[in-house]
Amino acid sequence: MDYEAYHRRSIAEPEAHWREQAALVDWQRPFEQVLDHSNPPFAKWFVGGTTNLCHNAVDRHLATRGGQNALVWVSTEVDREVTYSYRDLHAEVQRMAAILLALGVQPGDRVLIYMPMIPQAVFAMLACARIGAIHSVVFGGFASQSLANRIDDARPKLVVSADAGSRGGKVVAYKPLLDAAIDFAQHKPERVLLVDRGLSAMERVPGRDVDYAPLREQHLDAEVPVTWLESTTPSYTIYTSGTTGRPKGVQRDTGGYCVALAASMRSIFRCEPGETYFCTSDIGWVVGHCYIVYGPLIHGMTTILYEGLPIRPDAAIWWRLVEKYKVTAMFSSPTAVRVLKKHDPALLKQHDLSSLRGLYLAGEPLDEPTAQWIADGIGRPIIDNYWQTESGWPILTLANGIDGVAPKTPKFGSPGLPMPGFDVRLIDDASGEELTEPNRKGVLVVAGPTPPGFMQTVWGDDARYVNTYWKTVPGKSVYSTFDWGIRDADGYYFILGRTDDVINVAGHRLGTREIEEAVSGHAAVAEVAVVGVADELKGQVAMAFVVLKDSSLAADAAGALKLEGEIMKRVDETLGAVARPARVRFVTLLPKTRSGKLLRRAIQAVCEGRDPGDLTTIEDPSALQQVRDLVATR
Ligand code: AMP
Repeated sequence: MDYEAYHRRSIAEPEAHWREQAALVDWQRPFEQVLDHSNPPFAKWFVGGTTNLCHNAVDRHLATRGGQNALVWVSTEVDREVTYSYRDLHAEVQRMAAILLALGVQPGDRVLIYMPMIPQAVFAMLACARIGAIHSVVFGGFASQSLANRIDDARPKLVVSADAGSRGGKVVAYKPLLDAAIDFAQHKPERVLLVDRGLSAMERVPGRDVDYAPLREQHLDAEVPVTWLESTTPSYTIYTSGTTGRPKGVQRDTGGYCVALAASMRSIFRCEPGETYFCTSDIGWVVGHCYIVYGPLIHGMTTILYEGLPIRPDAAIWWRLVEKYKVTAMFSSPTAVRVLKKHDPALLKQHDLSSLRGLYLAGEPLDEPTAQWIADGIGRPIIDNYWQTESGWPILTLANGIDGVAPKTPKFGSPGLPMPGFDVRLIDDASGEELTEPNRKGVLVVAGPTPPGFMQTVWGDDARYVNTYWKTVPGKSVYSTFDWGIRDADGYYFILGRTDDVINVAGHRLGTREIEEAVSGHAAVAEVAVVGVADELKGQVAMAFVVLKDSSLAADAAGALKLEGEIMKRVDETLGAVARPARVRFVTLLPKTRSGKLLRRAIQAVCEGRDPGDLTTIEDPSALQQVRDLVATR
């Protein structure tokens, strides 16, 4: 069968397609209905069935692969390498689950996990899944305000955290950031469970904070049975940025997610149980949820959890791990490759990479020079894949592992073709019509029903889910990705960037509005515009243009520099260093339309040395000239 026919069937007969895939996972009670799409755009998968993510990721492998490595933790930050077999993982997850229960966590309660890349973070995620609590992992690089927003939205009963992480050998204390976040937040979690790594001294809040290690000792022999959950029960929320300052809690189900990941391990990543998977992302991102934790474990693989930089102790460290653990599939980001590109390419050749069947890159556009450089360097296939926090697994890539389906040839610059179950279309943004001819630029949308693994809704706000994603095309109910795309005559898609004000820094999605709010928090700031500007290493960086309440403060270079530093620090402290603008520049006026709308695209174009386009609506052209002058003096 050719791939197109395979994909067509998944769209025309979704129930038949996904019923087959559902056999890849264990069900405690079989489902009665594959799909309930009676209330679009909400799609309910495997209705009536009960299952459990932790059971599928851990328990079900005990009989066949109890002694096999499940989790290998490698930290080049604290020089540790610890392996956990499936049996060990089972014991650790039960200990963690017993602790959660002892701290009063019940099915449906939220547990916020704010952790560095340590095994306890994985135990906590799996323990939540085991007992039916909903986890919400917040990336450790986020600071107090981001964390507080998420605490207020998720309203967790418990927070699991640690004293500190470490980055490039420098300790990054987490506990003070967490304490400040809980202070800021309206919602106060009842308990905080702390892993003390001995990296940074911690103050405990009496009655609220408890230490993990002694509790683990108390529960060494814990046996916590799996709680069977309806397939549609939420398993987790993960926050993602959009056009407003308020992040959205992307909510995922249990059964559909489990099936989607299990299917993707075979069809996309071409992996076999018993092999090793290495995903270099962070558990705080969707890629980490799917392909560090759940996907590889559901598939009975060994997964590597890596704490550290790709260039320490040297830029060969990842390839050393590929050789040592005979990694068959590796998942990383274009930015990480661009970081490696600054180092000696000979480092790519030092290790035996023959086990590796593919290096999968996602999160941001993969530029051709980067793809070519790494393909030449490691001599292994490079597979671009396009998806979003919302989709839960790749929307576009090459599914070359499906039995009996002819493989597709990759094309540089294209992530590939729609994956089974994703009914991808392009919409003309002016007319709202679907673009059926090749090579036309349009907004990439997905027609429902969305496949298993896709977000169920926005946590606590169905209306926001519908209004944000499903109402952007007048007269049509389609899910908007907010990305521009093109499809060529062979059906391959090319992604051309976001249609909204979301920027992508080193594969991390950030809302310019959130950064603007953080910058506005500085007392001297009257107004600010943040735009994403192309960057050779990080894909994009944020640039802030600020109007001060008193412009004389930045009248000389020293004053401007001091304020720039203060504003950057403010962003670090509120959102985290990931969101820090590369530069903060001072202007007396921001480019706006006569109706007062910020001309972000014009600012961005000027920053990138492009033509700002139609400026007939601009209120005062001198505002854009100020930006131009500043960029020229960069
Ligand atoms: P996130 O939800 O943080 O994973 O960000 C998703 C966004 O990253 C998408 O909407 C795209 O804008 C971008 N993105 C992800 N993967 C790719 C890719 N392979 N090529 C181009 N853009 C990508």
